[in-house]
Amino acid sequence: MSKIVSINPFTEEIIKAVEETSSEQIPTIVKKAREALPAWSELGLEKRIEIIEKLVPLLEQNKEKLAKIIHDEMGKPIQKAVGEVEAASSATNFFLKTVPIALKEKVLDENEKEKNVLCYEPIGIVAAITPWNYPLELPLVSIVPALLAGNTVLFKASEHSSLVGIEFFNLLKQLEEEGLPKNVIQLVVGGKETGKEIVKQDIDLVSFTGSLRAGKQIMKDSAEKLHKIILELGGKDPAIVLKDADLEETAKGIVRGATINTGQVCCSIERIYIQKEIFEQLTKKIVEKAKAVSIDKGNDNADIGPLIREFQLKTVEDHIEDAKKKGAHILTGGKRLEGKGYFFLPTVLTNLTNDMKVMKEETFGPIIPLVSFETIEEAIEKANNTKYGLTASIWTKDKEKAKQIAKKLVVGTVVINSSGGYKIGCPWGGAKQSGIGRINYTEGIRELTNIKHLSIKK
Ligand code: NAD
Repeated sequence: MSKIVSINPFTEEIIKAVEETSSEQIPTIVKKAREALPAWSELGLEKRIEIIEKLVPLLEQNKEKLAKIIHDEMGKPIQKAVGEVEAASSATNFFLKTVPIALKEKVLDENEKEKNVLCYEPIGIVAAITPWNYPLELPLVSIVPALLAGNTVLFKASEHSSLVGIEFFNLLKQLEEEGLPKNVIQLVVGGKETGKEIVKQDIDLVSFTGSLRAGKQIMKDSAEKLHKIILELGGKDPAIVLKDADLEETAKGIVRGATINTGQVCCSIERIYIQKEIFEQLTKKIVEKAKAVSIDKGNDNADIGPLIREFQLKTVEDHIEDAKKKGAHILTGGKRLEGKGYFFLPTVLTNLTNDMKVMKEETFGPIIPLVSFETIEEAIEKANNTKYGLTASIWTKDKEKAKQIAKKLVVGTVVINSSGGYKIGCPWGGAKQSGIGRINYTEGIRELTNIKHLSIKK
């Protein structure tokens, strides 16, 4: 049996090696998921809610333990890891409340001859293939609504967050004591090859969150069986700062939006376009704030921790080196921290051109590239000049102007005077190569179902 090794990004030491699910085991796991489906889907939504709601106290009781594993394996400062467990809990509560609304049958029309009804039925077996950057919250927002909708789930955590995945799975397994039928939720441990093996099986939906590279592969592999896919992929998210923006608040918001989770967020700000008149002033403030970002060297309340692994550090270093070679100026940061751990300093860059990796490819690190623009049309053109389309932010006191700009940005979410915009109560997903489909809110829940039209002749 091969093993998946879990590493602590603060110390670079091995925490634990866990057994990988073999490719021979996967068809049996799928068979069990198929067999478990009728008992679960026919139980009815009310009963399923009664069972799944027991997850909330389990998350609460295990908050400290989960946060410590997230911190040790993924590198998030402990207070931020506690925040992730709390967010997972709120997300569960949100789905418990919203699934009945989302899945309620709708009468589309009725006359003396016929009645047409829309029904949202379980889609079948859902494979939740998930990343490491929010190693509890992101699996949870794929798995919990899929279960509530009456599906059975195969859960594969990232190979870089297997321990968090196993811990979360153990909590879900405890729901069997509350009536969750056996094999409704099953764990698959492994990396990319294991993920590929799952996608090849007779499943019904792949709910994937991860990189564009993997998303494209999953789309190709899913074509064979033509199962449905939801792809939540990467971004190269722009911020547009107009000359009337509040400089202090904008500088704070940009630095936070670019460095949160050490920049390892799909919707972190990765390109900043600043109107010429305020470029110098705002740059100065951004540099000050980037220098003040606290790094977790044993400080539970720090702003950021290390990057996940050596490979992520290498990507960030490669983007910075490439930019420097092509003429970029580094105003602060630009290098890793001496000593153990995959730490990289928050980095502000100027003098950038579009051929630089840091302006084109997802960096997924604490980088803050600043570019000036003159007209709003130019800013929109620059912001849209990417294959990605996850989110964008606009910073200005003129909300009406911001709304006009928002309409022209080809993305899934636009945020005015803040960044990210991820909210469980709002649909989430990308335009262009940032993804296919939506998660969260009622739209996201319905994606996990077979939408059936029932036509009743009278
Ligand atoms: P990744 O694509 O390397 O891996 C994600 C998951 O997919 C892992 O479990 C991995 O083992 C599996 N996997 C990889 N290749 C696969 C394949 N061909 N078939 C099946 N499974 C495969 O991504 P990552 O490094 O874990 O996460 C970072 C990426 O995720 C970034 O690009 C980030 O922007 C993106 N992300 C997107 C969102 C979103 O909501 N849009 C949220 C978080 C992260």
